Amino acid sequence: MRLSRYFLPVLKETPGEAQIVSHQLMLRAGLIRQTAAGIYAWLPLGLRVLKKIEGIVRAEQDRAGAVEVLMPTIQSAELWRQSGRYDAYGPEMLRITDRHDREMLFSPTAEELFTTIFAGGVKSYRDLPRILYQIQWKFRDEIRPRFGVMRGREFFMKDAYSFDADMAGARHSYNRMFIAYLRTFAAMGMHAIPMRADTGPIGGDLSHEFHIVAATGESGVFYHENWDRARSTEVDADDAVALQAYVDGLNADYAATDEKRDPAAEAAAGSALKEARGIEVGQIFYFGTKYSAAMSLSVQGPDGQPIVPHMGSYGIGVSRLVGAIIEASHDKDGIIWPEAVAPYRVALINLRADDAVCTTAADDLYAKLQAAGVEVLYDDRNERGGAKFATADLIGIPWQLVIGPKGVAVGTVEVKRRGQGAREELSVEAALARVAG
Ligand code: ATP
Ligand code: MG
Repeated sequence: MRLSRYFLPVLKETPGEAQIVSHQLMLRAGLIRQTAAGIYAWLPLGLRVLKKIEGIVRAEQDRAGAVEVLMPTIQSAELWRQSGRYDAYGPEMLRITDRHDREMLFSPTAEELFTTIFAGGVKSYRDLPRILYQIQWKFRDEIRPRFGVMRGREFFMKDAYSFDADMAGARHSYNRMFIAYLRTFAAMGMHAIPMRADTGPIGGDLSHEFHIVAATGESGVFYHENWDRARSTEVDADDAVALQAYVDGLNADYAATDEKRDPAAEAAAGSALKEARGIEVGQIFYFGTKYSAAMSLSVQGPDGQPIVPHMGSYGIGVSRLVGAIIEASHDKDGIIWPEAVAPYRVALINLRADDAVCTTAADDLYAKLQAAGVEVLYDDRNERGGAKFATADLIGIPWQLVIGPKGVAVGTVEVKRRGQGAREELSVEAALARVAG
C-alpha cells in the first residue's frame, strides 16, 4: 500500500482525553477515532491489527475443534427472560424497543442464543460433545467507559460455548480451551497468565481469567513467579487424561495464582508470589446445566433417558487485546507491534521522493516486496525524511527499509528493526531475505 493513497490520520499532539499510553498511541497512530462514549470507528491501520488478532483467535479455536457460527447482535428480550437474565443483567444491558413495541437488546454475551440454536439441532448423545464459537460485536453499557478500546461499550469478542454429556466431558472441553487460550496469546507474542476467578453474572463453579501484566491494568493480581517463565505447550488436546493432568499440574505448580483471598496459599507461596497489575484479555467458565436446563436443551442418552448437557463458555476480548498489546509493547516513539499482529510487516521509506533515481529504486523494491508476498506500507509521500521516520516509529511496523541517495549510489538499503537501535546497510537481495521471514 502506498501511503500517498492511504488513510492514515496521525496526530502530532497527544490527545488530552486519553489517560493511558495505549489509548494515546491508538489515537495518534490513526488506528481508531471515538464516535460516542466508549464507541470507536476502526481506521485502516487499526482494522488490520484487529483482523490479525481475530485471525489468530480463529485459527486456535479451529485447532481446538470449535466450530464457527455468527449470531445476530440484536436479540429478543423473550430469549433472555427464559433464563431469568433479562431482569438480572441490570443497566449494562442496552435495551431497545422496535416499532411494534417489542423488547429487544444488543447482546452483551450469548449463552441463551447459542443454547437455543444448539437445542434446535441435536437429538442424541451422539451429537455431543460440541464447541461452537463466534467472533462478533458485543455491547455493554459500561458505567465508566475508559482507556479507549480497553473498556469500550461496543467491543469485539470471541465467545465459545461447549456442550458435553456430563461434568467429566465438560471439564475436558474446559481444559481444551484453557490450552487453546495459552496458545492464542503466545501466538500473538503475548504472555497471558491464567488466574482462578469468580464466575460473576454468568454463574457456575469453575472459572479462570487470563491476564496480561501491565502497569495500567485495571485488576490487581497475584501470581506465582514461575508463570513469568511458563510457556504454551504442545500437549495432546485429544487425550483427556493427559490434558487434565497437564492443566492440574499447571494450576498446582503455580498454585499461588490469584490466591490473594487465601492467606494459607499465599504464605505457602512465600516470596514466589508476585503482585502486579493485569489486563483481563479472556475468561473461561464451566457452569454445568444452568443454561441447558433453562433453555430446554436435552438429548437422548444411550439408555433412552434424557440427558441435560453440561456447558461452559469462553470469552476473549479481541478489541481489548489491541490496547493491551500496545500497553505491553511500546517505547517513547510509539508502538512496537509483535510481528504476528503488526498491520504491515515492512515500512518502506523513500527519503527523497523528489529524486528520480531514489524513487525508481524505491518503486522497484516495493514491487519486489509485493511479489514476495511481504505486507508493505510504502511511504512515497513528498515529505521530509524526519517526518517519515517519526511516522514509521509511531505506527510501530516491525521492519523499516530506507532508500536514500547514499545507499542508492552503492546499491544498498538501510534496514532497521523497530524497537532495536541498530541499523544495517544491506544489498537489496540481502534486505529482502532479511525481512521475508
Ligand atoms: P471486565 O471484568 O473487564 O469488565 P468481564 O469479566 O465483564 O470483563 P467477560 O464477560 O469475561 O468480561 O468477557 C470476556 C472478555 O471480553 C473479557 O475477558 C475482556 O477481555 C472482554 N471485555 C469485557 N468487557 C469489555 C469492554 N467493556 N470493553 C472491551 N473488552 C471487554
Ligand atoms: Mg471476565
